[in-house]
Amino acid sequence: MRQSQLFTKTRKDVSKSEEATNARILLKAGYIDQLMAGVYTYLPLGYRVIRNIERIVREEMNAIGGQEILMPALHPKSVWEETGRWDTIDVLYRFTTHYTGMEVALGSTHEEIVTPTAKKFVASYKDLPFATYQIQTKFRDEKRAKSGVLRGREFIMKDLYSFHTSEEDLDAYYEKAIEAYHRVYKRLGIGSTTYKTYASGGTFSKYSHEFQTLSPVGEDTVYVCHDCKIGVNEEIIHEMDGCPECGAKLEQTTAIEAGNIFKLKTKFSDSFGLSFTDKDGTEKPVYMGCYGIGISRAMGVITEFFAEGDSKMTWPEEVAPFKVHILALNTDKEDVMNTAEKLYQDLSSTGTEVLYDDRDERPGSKFSDADLIGIPHRVVVSSRSLEQGGVEYNGEVISLPDLLTKLSA
Ligand code: ATP
Ligand code: MG
Repeated sequence: MRQSQLFTKTRKDVSKSEEATNARILLKAGYIDQLMAGVYTYLPLGYRVIRNIERIVREEMNAIGGQEILMPALHPKSVWEETGRWDTIDVLYRFTTHYTGMEVALGSTHEEIVTPTAKKFVASYKDLPFATYQIQTKFRDEKRAKSGVLRGREFIMKDLYSFHTSEEDLDAYYEKAIEAYHRVYKRLGIGSTTYKTYASGGTFSKYSHEFQTLSPVGEDTVYVCHDCKIGVNEEIIHEMDGCPECGAKLEQTTAIEAGNIFKLKTKFSDSFGLSFTDKDGTEKPVYMGCYGIGISRAMGVITEFFAEGDSKMTWPEEVAPFKVHILALNTDKEDVMNTAEKLYQDLSSTGTEVLYDDRDERPGSKFSDADLIGIPHRVVVSSRSLEQGGVEYNGEVISLPDLLTKLSA
């Protein structure tokens, strides 16, 4: 894409009072726009990042047999009453409709929707197991929404639900999901610092697991073993005598919850009467698991991890909005513009995603914009580089053919 055509620009008017680094960087770089606290528009650059995160998550969920669906965001009160959660979920947005006076909620999670849907298709053990997921906007009336896209009141989540004939089958799938989650975080560039963390299982199970990305701005306190890359959540630390895997002493730190998985067992199938006829003819409840990842929060986590100060960012390659940023410096020089243009065309024709800064701007502002936008590979075309026989990449002048070999998709 030509940067002169991008309708957003970097912004200098972002308030210093914005508390979170991710919000400052993403607002300044023109990735997001804020409508109100916790509610954002994803602008072209930001939405490319979101779609890349979604693609990675989709690929990994498909790889563990997840079938993608899209559930409604608008829910009748009745399904929330079935589970008794209408009155107990404090963040649930509830309201009465204008014409019919019907009470409805905006979905904060979707067990209440997916379980009755599954019931329409599950009769026998032959219909199980299966897993289904969606990537969708969730609504939560969060008390505090000052952490940029880390905590939205409207945010994008992937939620997968799995359905099984037995606890053993659920357990086996749960382990597969853990592996898939590790692959997701690795591809997002935060694998080395995202720890599987033991958390309370609530009423459903002994433990659930969170995927916690260690970060000084994290709102959660976790106790970690760096050798095993394992954490223990604050709620259950008193039950633990050191690392649950190796027994070593745990270190207290802060982290951001990037994902959370639960064994729901039969809690929701009991509420909705989701059962199946087993091989021996007896009727049994379906065992369920649920598996969430914050998609828009992941954009914030990655920003917090890869930002250097308030005006420099480098996106990991798989999530970056573009792979290559071409900066043409001397826009009044025909040879510079011709070379930059040819490079842009040649790279694009191999399927490489390129942002081409063809704007008539001073080199200084091109560099500072590029620092903020954070595209991982930067190529500078200038009169000076052409005199030295090519273009500048990673601090060296290299020839066009060499560059094309290095950066082609
Ligand atoms: P938190 O403790 O941070 O409020 P949660 O435990 O309530 O999160 P879950 O219900 O487990 O969240 O949701 C699954 C995932 O969705 C979380 O692990 C997180 O990555 C993401 N998420 C939850 N709440 C928000 C939010 N308000 N904004 C953005 N992402 C969120
Ligand atoms: Mg959670």
